[in-house]
Amino acid sequence: MKILVVNCGSSSLKYQLVDMNGEQVLAKGLVERIGLDGSLLVHEKGDEDKVKLPNEIPNHKIAIGLVIDTLVDPNLGVLSDIKEIEAVGHRVVHAGEEFAGSVLITDAVMNALNKCIELAPLHNPPNIMGIEACAEVLPGVKQVGVFDTAFHQTMPKKSFLYGLPYEAYENHSVRRYGFHGTSHKYVAQEAAKMLGKDIADLKIITCHLGNGASVAAIDGGISVDTSMGFTPLEGLVMGTRCGDIDPAIIPFIMNKEGLDINGVNDYLNKKSGVLGISGVSSDFRDIENAAGQGNERAQLALDIFAQRVKKYIGAYAAVLGGVDAVVFTAGLGENSPETRETVLADFEFLGIEIDTAKNKVRGKATNFSKDGSKVQALVIPTNEELMIARDTQSIVK
Ligand code: ADP
Repeated sequence: MKILVVNCGSSSLKYQLVDMNGEQVLAKGLVERIGLDGSLLVHEKGDEDKVKLPNEIPNHKIAIGLVIDTLVDPNLGVLSDIKEIEAVGHRVVHAGEEFAGSVLITDAVMNALNKCIELAPLHNPPNIMGIEACAEVLPGVKQVGVFDTAFHQTMPKKSFLYGLPYEAYENHSVRRYGFHGTSHKYVAQEAAKMLGKDIADLKIITCHLGNGASVAAIDGGISVDTSMGFTPLEGLVMGTRCGDIDPAIIPFIMNKEGLDINGVNDYLNKKSGVLGISGVSSDFRDIENAAGQGNERAQLALDIFAQRVKKYIGAYAAVLGGVDAVVFTAGLGENSPETRETVLADFEFLGIEIDTAKNKVRGKATNFSKDGSKVQALVIPTNEELMIARDTQSIVK
């Protein structure tokens, strides 16, 4: 079965065509600057070099049409007929409390997703546009929604409710939802495979450390707590997002800096995090370089980032009543031995002992714990697209 995986942003569309027979990526790419000047499709067929195809791409429907044309193109394509695409899997950011798993897209599902727009005003509208565009361009082809929030719907109320009036939850759906669910679920499953154990018997802490970052506590394959909340702003210090802060800072800084609601949203989401602390960059590579050259604020940003991850690991070991494995994934988690080492330093009391030589890996599935360590420390590259393709296959079957 060949499945098209689609991830729509407001002006972008990422795609992968996966042959589920062997879980092989046949082609993938990115449509950039949809609705803007200079729009283009960047397409990669198998292991061949990327091809840039500038084109006028005013909306997502045209974008998906162009992707399909490219996939059946005699030179660039990998399909002889559009009918070979048996299903489309979509990444959708927010499904609120509506869905605890992936679902076949129906009119009722679309209504539910439209209801969630107010919870994710930046993310859900383009995700919905992508589904509508595919329905038009690929009529009759089954579509599946895979939600970032779904995996965390198993969290108990004691994990997901805030210390706010209960009516905030009842009347306005204010609660913790959690994000990166597809990634946390994927790496937890891969961790169980790597350890040769049944996931039902494992307590795992997964650290998805990218530009956006979150930690999840997974008990027997089920998410019981996670660091992101009502929005992806809560929890860890991130590239440009502040993570946990005292909420009293918000009115205080609005007053001091003369910021309105949009201004303070920008301040917390785009100007904070390691960018705000270091004054260097939101990219950890730049910050690690600057710190290496003696930039103290860059070093401070790395220390604050690692301290926050460490706190969450400690907290989640307590929530889980122990831990069998700590997993690192996403851009930074997969590629920064320094970050992994700092985060897991001094955790011997919990049974986490790492082998610094084994830890010197980038982007490769690795167990970097010392022989005999009670807790396993793992690097597992995430693959949200594959997870979406797997869910899509199992649902349309
Ligand atoms: P997102 O999908 O949230 O945009 P990614 O998972 O791609 O994020 O992660 C991006 C982050 O990973 C960036 O901050 C980048 O600096 C960091 N990263 C990628 N490669 C490396 C590396 N070799 N060393 C340190 N950090 C890295």
